[in-house]
Amino acid sequence: MSDEKFDAIIVGGGPAGVITAYTLAYHGKSVVLLDKKKHDQIGNKTCGDALDESSPIFLFESMNLPMPFGEEVSDDLNLLTVASMSSRLSIPAPGYTVDRHKYGQRLLKECIDIGVRVIDSAPVRDVIIDNGYVVGVKYKNGSDLVSIFGKVVVDCSGTWAAVRKLLPEGFSEGLYAKLDDHHIAASYREIISLKEEHPFRHEIVLEYDKDIPSPGYIWYFTKGEKALNVGTGWLKSDPVGNGKGMKEVFHDALHKTYSPESYTVDVSGGGQIPIRPPFDCMTFNGGVVVGDAGCLVDPTTAEGHGPALVGGYYAGLVLNEALDKGDVSREGLWEYNRLIMAHYGVRNSMSYVVLKYLRILGPEKIDEILKKKFLTEEELTKIFLGEPLNLSVVEIIKKLLRILPDFKVPIILNRLLKEIEVVRDHYKTYPDEHSELADWRKKRDKLIGEKL
Ligand SMILES: Cc1cc2nc3c(=O)[nH]c(=O)nc-3n(C[C@H](O)[C@H](O)[C@H](O)COP(=O)(O)OP(=O)(O)OC[C@H]3O[C@@H](n4cnc5c(N)ncnc54)[C@H](O)[C@@H]3O)c2cc1C
Repeated sequence: MSDEKFDAIIVGGGPAGVITAYTLAYHGKSVVLLDKKKHDQIGNKTCGDALDESSPIFLFESMNLPMPFGEEVSDDLNLLTVASMSSRLSIPAPGYTVDRHKYGQRLLKECIDIGVRVIDSAPVRDVIIDNGYVVGVKYKNGSDLVSIFGKVVVDCSGTWAAVRKLLPEGFSEGLYAKLDDHHIAASYREIISLKEEHPFRHEIVLEYDKDIPSPGYIWYFTKGEKALNVGTGWLKSDPVGNGKGMKEVFHDALHKTYSPESYTVDVSGGGQIPIRPPFDCMTFNGGVVVGDAGCLVDPTTAEGHGPALVGGYYAGLVLNEALDKGDVSREGLWEYNRLIMAHYGVRNSMSYVVLKYLRILGPEKIDEILKKKFLTEEELTKIFLGEPLNLSVVEIIKKLLRILPDFKVPIILNRLLKEIEVVRDHYKTYPDEHSELADWRKKRDKLIGEKL
């Protein structure tokens, strides 16, 4: 038993954890961050390494946190390309590929410098609930279980969701312990060094390959002139045929572009990514969930690093105010739900609709759509940014004519464009109070056609 009591206990020292901790400490709160990894490994994570520029800019502007720099940056990015077997479409995407380990260690140090206490090698194994509130956690220290208490507990432990998965059923409506297999993508990636320079400099490419189960793809993300982060992933619920495993499918796809002799593998690894809009309620009595633990990942691009950073800031801000007011109930923390839904709820729900239709279409039809330029660069950019397309009936008809004589594709695409807008508009009406959540969810489930 630890006698110390903190304002906040942060479980997990990835991007969500370090920024939640930093924001709270920045506002003068006492914070402890627990991570199961050894101190010098915190931040190291199997990832595609792409980070959009807007998230670190947001942190710089709100708390003066320096942008990724020096060896933290593998390459600067300016383009995101969606490619199929025979076509490609590129849109502006300013950002970086980062060295997750170096950038993560630096953010951890920023936390320590501002007063956050870090306890490493401390896997959280239990939550302590008192009078309907989470008031602490138990972590393993050798063969002992150590209890530690805080006024709030924040789950930033990634897909593992160490706190969320231990909350009793129904503890907070809209926040679930377990994810369905069709809400999880399994993924595998390698960082490779090439003998020759690659053509993807300053670019990240998502390529829809006919041998990868849709909506999965193979990605090529630049790590500098002669290095690439390459990987693949698809929904856990979609098994691959012919008895092939993910590594084999990945290598088959990669070797269409790079022969095994043309590169060496520096690092390899797999991971799981939550694929759904954020949980409908990210708050509970005594805390919140942030980052992958709250499913803040863009379902189509699997972008979760930036959302974990910005989500950490939103969480820190709201928790700080709630601690000052002395109300850390689910409702007292509701402003966090509102901020998340206005930002990632809107954006990622649209992306989830796109994902659903990509699945229906499959790689061959995606190829057809790109070839026939159904979407312009500007329209694709708007979809990725969650902005309205505002297409007139004439524009829609013109687009549909371009795709003919395949009657099915235009109908599917027309439905997709409409559904994106309805779902987005619904997320913009996310309730101000918990009492209205059930009705909002019921309507959302009807619009998306699935009980989320
Ligand atoms: C293969 C792959 C490729 C990806 N590519 C990209 C990409 O290119 N761009 C992008 O933006 N996103 C990408 N993502 C997603 C991105 O990695 C995550 O969204 C992001 O890391 C989420 O941050 P987080 O802080 O929520 O969780 P994490 O980064 O997973 O951090 C969680 C932390 O919690 C700790 N922890 C876990 N369990 C416990 C426990 N019981 N007790 C204590 N500590 C615990 C872990 O050690 C870890 O340090 C990718 C993910 C994968 C798997």
